[in-house]
Amino acid sequence: MKRATAIICAAAICAAGTPFYGCAPQESEGTKYRITAAYDGGNTLEGRVETDFYNDTGNALDCLKFNLWGNAFREGAASSPVSEAAKADAYYGGESYGGMEITAVTGGEAQTGGDDMNILCITPAEPIYPEQRLTVSIAFVLKLANVNARTGVAEGAVNLGNFYPVLCAYGGSGWLEYAYCPTGDPFVSQTADYEVELTVPEEFLVAASGEQTAVNRADGNATYKFELSGARDFAAVLSRQFEVVTRQAGDVRIKCYCLNESGRSLADIAAESLAYFEETFGRYPYPEFSIVQTGLAQSGMEYPALAMISADCGDAVYTAVHEVAHQWWYAAVGSDQYMHAWQDEGLAEYSALMFFESHPEYGFTRAGLISTATRAYRAYFSVYSQLFDDADTGMDRALCDFAGDYEYANIAYNKALIMFEALREALGDGQFRAALQSYYSSYSASIAPPEGLMAAFCARADCEGIFESFIQGKVII
Ligand SMILES: [Zn+2]
Repeated sequence: MKRATAIICAAAICAAGTPFYGCAPQESEGTKYRITAAYDGGNTLEGRVETDFYNDTGNALDCLKFNLWGNAFREGAASSPVSEAAKADAYYGGESYGGMEITAVTGGEAQTGGDDMNILCITPAEPIYPEQRLTVSIAFVLKLANVNARTGVAEGAVNLGNFYPVLCAYGGSGWLEYAYCPTGDPFVSQTADYEVELTVPEEFLVAASGEQTAVNRADGNATYKFELSGARDFAAVLSRQFEVVTRQAGDVRIKCYCLNESGRSLADIAAESLAYFEETFGRYPYPEFSIVQTGLAQSGMEYPALAMISADCGDAVYTAVHEVAHQWWYAAVGSDQYMHAWQDEGLAEYSALMFFESHPEYGFTRAGLISTATRAYRAYFSVYSQLFDDADTGMDRALCDFAGDYEYANIAYNKALIMFEALREALGDGQFRAALQSYYSSYSASIAPPEGLMAAFCARADCEGIFESFIQGKVII
């Protein structure tokens, strides 16, 4: 994500070959989602997601756990889905609420819970053993708040980020059950294949994460079909006002969905930066990329093969490059964004720096970007030292432990940018780039632990001390 802040803007064992419900012979393919959903033109999306889960966790699982991100927008949610700083821009028509209702579940006994009604737990009759599959189906109704946020009826468009129940990621100690947080991106999920059918009133155009394979029009509606492989999420944006501009970046088709004149230039910057990152880090994993202007209180938000950019964004070019970089650092190489936000945000920031360094015509320089981040970080440190006596500058913190957008932006973006600059100075340009290429090829389609990132660099130079001093907060900037 790019903030609009002052910083820069299931106990039976399957008999092989014996088919019975919820337990199938071993297959090598991963998890698949089949989503069908219909938008009513107002504030309701009704849908069903069938999840064909493949247990690659190595453990027998008693249940499957899904995130219900839509419930973060309900009245009475434990924390606001929008930060205090962004509320005035986000709630353009005043207070508004949404929510996600689960109307039917097959494949196991269902229970909604978690810290903030954010988790759906489905318990099948039998455990799911390693390398077995289980298919569950969830029918849901998503009520959309009127809000310029990832999920909601925004100004000019309808944002369908995190719009369906998606499996929690499975970590070493179990399912990662993170509640929504107004700061940062609390979304952690593993890659899967998607087939999505979205039905909308026919006057809407649909921008989506996947490759559009068909559109059928009937009875005043249009049904769009999309496919996307190896993606950790799927998002869409609907609008009556989109103008579509296309470009090509090598084999990748770029689609820019514009709401205003300034949006047209985003197609070029997206194509240019995507080509640069392919050459610098490795191949982009999808056939298409969509950059979409929409009503968004933040500057931008990343999804696999799609980025939302605020139609009011004052630094849209910089934001677009940052969001394109997230296709490498978030979409392809996943990380635990809730506990280690600096990992993908820092890399997206530093990747943007690298792009602008090699494209001086945009007016950003390496020295200028580092200087801006350093000044902002020092100002934050000074203010927080005065406010709290001893500013906590540790980087590994749960999102909800940040005091707000200001602290989060300075730690996860600015300080992380400065850390990658220190690493580059220690390794030299060639080894620094090689480390990033190694990290990308090693962890594409996975969730990389911070240690994996550190190992990619420290295999090339003695740099453990740099990571330690920055992450633990000891370094003086
Ligand atoms: Zn970001």
